[in-house]
Amino acid sequence: MKYVRFIDKASGQPAYGILGDDMITEIDGTPFDSGWKLTERQIPAEEVKLLPPAPFSKAVCIGLNYRDHAEEFGLPIPETPVVFLKPSTAAAAHGDAIIYPAMCHRLDYEAELAVVIGKKAKDVSESEALGHVLGYTIANDVTARDLQPKNGQWTIAKGFDTFMPLGPYISDEVDGSCLMITSRVNGETKQKSNTSNLIFGIPYLISYISRVMTLLPGDIISTGTPGGISGMQKGDTVEIEIEGLGILKNTIA
Ligand code: MG
Repeated sequence: MKYVRFIDKASGQPAYGILGDDMITEIDGTPFDSGWKLTERQIPAEEVKLLPPAPFSKAVCIGLNYRDHAEEFGLPIPETPVVFLKPSTAAAAHGDAIIYPAMCHRLDYEAELAVVIGKKAKDVSESEALGHVLGYTIANDVTARDLQPKNGQWTIAKGFDTFMPLGPYISDEVDGSCLMITSRVNGETKQKSNTSNLIFGIPYLISYISRVMTLLPGDIISTGTPGGISGMQKGDTVEIEIEGLGILKNTIA
C-alpha cells in the first residue's frame, strides 16, 4: 500500500489515506496503529495538500554510506555508521519550498532512501529489524555545505527548517535493499545509483541505532546519499526519484 498524510479540508487537521491511481481513500486511525480501517471517503489526489508522510520525533541520518560519496570528499570508508539527527522542525512535504538560509552560501541536495519505522524498536536484532518497518519513502538531506566543516559536527549545517523534505508517500510494496535512486536539478541528472550500494544495510542500521535510542513509530532513518552532490540556487527545482516510491519535488526559495 501507499500511505499519504494530508490536511483534511473539512477539519483542517492532518489525516491519513491510501493512495490509489489518482484517488486517496481516507483511513480511520493512522498507519502506525494496528487497528486502522478504510473509510468511505475518497478524495482526488490532486486536490489535497500533502504533509510529510512520517510525523517523526527524530530523523536519524547516516553520513558517508555510499563508497563513491565518501570518495568525493576524500574521506575513508567508515568502519561504523556515521550518525546524526535532524529536528522534527526540518520536515517539509513534497511540493513545499526549501528555504535558502541567509547564513549559507552553498546549499546542496542529497538524494536518500528513508526507512519509516512502524513499530517501536529497542535493542532489536538484525533478523528482527525489518519487522519494525512500516515502509519506505524519499528524503532529501538538504545541507548547508559551507557550514558543515566549520562546525565540526553537522547539526547546524543540516538542521535548518525545511532541510528534510520527505515523501510523497510511504510504500510497503518495495524491497529497500535494491532500488534505483536518482536526483535531478532543473531536469538535469545529478546522482544515479542503487540502494544495493549502501555500505551499511538497512537491517544493520536499524539494529545498531535501536541499541542506542528507541525508535518510535513515525521515526525515519535516512540511509545516506550516493556520489554526485552539488549546489542549488534560489528558483531551482530539485527532484529525487526512487524506484517504486515516486518523485519528491521541491523548489528553492
Ligand atoms: Mg546525507
